[in-house]
Amino acid sequence: MTSSFPASTVLGYPRIGPDRELKRALESYWEGRSSRTDLEETARRVREDTWRRLAALGLEGLPSNTFSYYDQVLDTAVLLGAVPGRYRHDDDLATYFAMARGAEGIAPLRMTKWFDTNYHYIVPEIGPDTVFSLDAAKPLGEVREARALGLETRPVLVGPVTFLLLSQAAPDSPDGFAPLDRLDDVVEVYARLLAELAAEGVGWVQLDEPALVADRTTAELAAVEAAYDRLGRLDHRPALLVASYFGDLGDALPVLAGAPVEAVALDLVRGAAQGVETLDVEALRGKTVVAGVVSGRDVWRTDRDRALATLLAVRERAGRVAVSTSCSLLHVPYDVERETGLDLALRERLAFAEQKVAEVVDLAARLAATPARDLPGQPAAPERPHVFPARTEQGRAPYPIRAAVQAEHLKLPLLPVTTIGSFPQTGELRRARAALAAGQIGEAAYESMVRAEIEQVIALQERLGLDVLVHGEPERNDMVQYFAEHLDGFAVTRHGWVQSYGSRCTRPPILYGDVRRPEPITVRWARYAQSLTSKPVKGMLTGPVTIVAWSFVRDDLPLREVVFQVADAVREEVGDLEEAGIRVIQVDEPALRELVPLRRAEQAAYLEWAVAAYRWATSGASEHTQIHTHLCYSDADEILAAIDALDADVTSIESARSRGRMLGAVGAFPRGLGPGVYDIHSPRVPGADEVEHLLAEALRSVPAERLWVNPDCGLKTRTYEQVEAALANVVEAAARLRERL
Ligand code: GLN
Ligand code: ZN
Repeated sequence: MTSSFPASTVLGYPRIGPDRELKRALESYWEGRSSRTDLEETARRVREDTWRRLAALGLEGLPSNTFSYYDQVLDTAVLLGAVPGRYRHDDDLATYFAMARGAEGIAPLRMTKWFDTNYHYIVPEIGPDTVFSLDAAKPLGEVREARALGLETRPVLVGPVTFLLLSQAAPDSPDGFAPLDRLDDVVEVYARLLAELAAEGVGWVQLDEPALVADRTTAELAAVEAAYDRLGRLDHRPALLVASYFGDLGDALPVLAGAPVEAVALDLVRGAAQGVETLDVEALRGKTVVAGVVSGRDVWRTDRDRALATLLAVRERAGRVAVSTSCSLLHVPYDVERETGLDLALRERLAFAEQKVAEVVDLAARLAATPARDLPGQPAAPERPHVFPARTEQGRAPYPIRAAVQAEHLKLPLLPVTTIGSFPQTGELRRARAALAAGQIGEAAYESMVRAEIEQVIALQERLGLDVLVHGEPERNDMVQYFAEHLDGFAVTRHGWVQSYGSRCTRPPILYGDVRRPEPITVRWARYAQSLTSKPVKGMLTGPVTIVAWSFVRDDLPLREVVFQVADAVREEVGDLEEAGIRVIQVDEPALRELVPLRRAEQAAYLEWAVAAYRWATSGASEHTQIHTHLCYSDADEILAAIDALDADVTSIESARSRGRMLGAVGAFPRGLGPGVYDIHSPRVPGADEVEHLLAEALRSVPAERLWVNPDCGLKTRTYEQVEAALANVVEAAARLRERL
């Protein structure tokens, strides 16, 4: 049954296309501008190009089934037949996209972040009555497609345990039901799939189990053991690689070591932070260790001598080793060679997916050329303790004192109405920005467009009767990239797109050096907006954690120090905004939760420094200045203490979609709170009655003096027509309630 595992592989590859071909094909298909055949042809070409490229680079183990029209977890739900009835259509693709994006009158499945990455997956719904059935068309199709090109591949699947741990209980499930309760049934479907793949002549299958790098209960580990025992003992199956990534396996390592599977992938970048000698790789003797020594999470070249030393140490202790990436390369862009605009010295330090594949291939060759016992003296570089520069916070007056001072100073009505920052980005603005970048229009022409946009946004808010206005962020392409473009120490790419979800991609900036703010960034726009109105205009900044979380970050400094460097810059900007007469400043921190470590033991330390960085960024403000923060998500309850410790005067939070839960948790929050009353993710315009009802409900847990009225998030993706109608209703609802207070 078992052929030996190839000497070099990657756990997965980008799939959106080097020029975002799949994005365009999807969006055009959704808009009805192209046919299913067109979409399928683009997808086929993206897959073919990927396999051919990987083979040309010399990679031996080619993955398949890493392509997706939307998301691999959603693909797995379809594979297992776990499609909730409300989404079913005759057309399979319509069913698939209905789950991902919703259909008339039916909300999509929930979407959430994939571990601690900025990739989002679709959360399957599993109930006690979910009927599982095998639909192997996709993995089989990809195997055959590659074979037609003369290439053998290893299908990659989300493993059964991770699949169920990432699923949520279907809405009608009884209390106490957890999707993992259905493990036996799901494993039977995997068993049938493995039999089909074996019949197809597939040699190896990869089952991804990244959920095993987070803390798992004894019962969960027992489930892992049972699942892999069952799959491992099947008579007709391909050889199995169980892939872990994003950290170390901890207690799950002995479980996998004892399982009858042929290979285990370890993340030796993040999972060997304490040194590879601390991992019990001996336990894996007899299996192949697929050693993830090339990082799939950053854009830096691999220190190959160190990586080789790691490989040799693992081979010495475990026996059989193959070279791989630490995780799928989904999280990095395609090819750094295309970034001709980057400084050459920087470009030489960078590796995107193509370059990382070449590194894997090279390391495999070096490993093969190094005889056993020929361990070069490459002890891990001794960790020099990092000296953190002192940043002594003066501390602002306590919140109750500030609240009184600000009430006096800002003279806001009860239930003040505001927005989260951005107003709709018109096509005209986007085109003007592109024209500016291409040198087709001058700086002055562009700036006058931005100014005109600010005038309109201010006039609109005055007309509608909002209380704290914003300038609308028309000058920003993106809330992180904009700041990266204006800070030293960052580079931005032209083609460095990474899939965020579905057809959405982001181009993370590269933070490669010390961060400094050469000059004020947002001040002139805020000042201009404030000059147009007597109402307070809120200055709008992105917080240090979010700027770092959504960038590729240098790895030669502790993350904490990098975040503090960004906090220095934000702090300077806050000071300059104040000086320019801005009385309310919002520092957004939507990524605060995203960086929370997967292991509980590491979470408190992270939250402590992340909060300290935020406070460092904002605490230079006088007590007259009202500091707002915005966190996109609603499940803030897990980190409520940390949000409180941010010490912002006002916190706005998503809640239009998940009221009860959110308000129950944060009702007792002792500061200003703006639970969103308008779901900006949907084109739907909420009526005034509906908003009034939401506010009345919020008033049951939040006292009127502390309740703010705002949408869930920025309005950037909506149209002016929707926004005007919605905000008019929001203002009216607030006015009606004020009457009654
Ligand atoms: N101020 C930003 C905006 O309104 C916040 C966006 C976000 O939270 N993701 O667009
Ligand atoms: Zn938001």
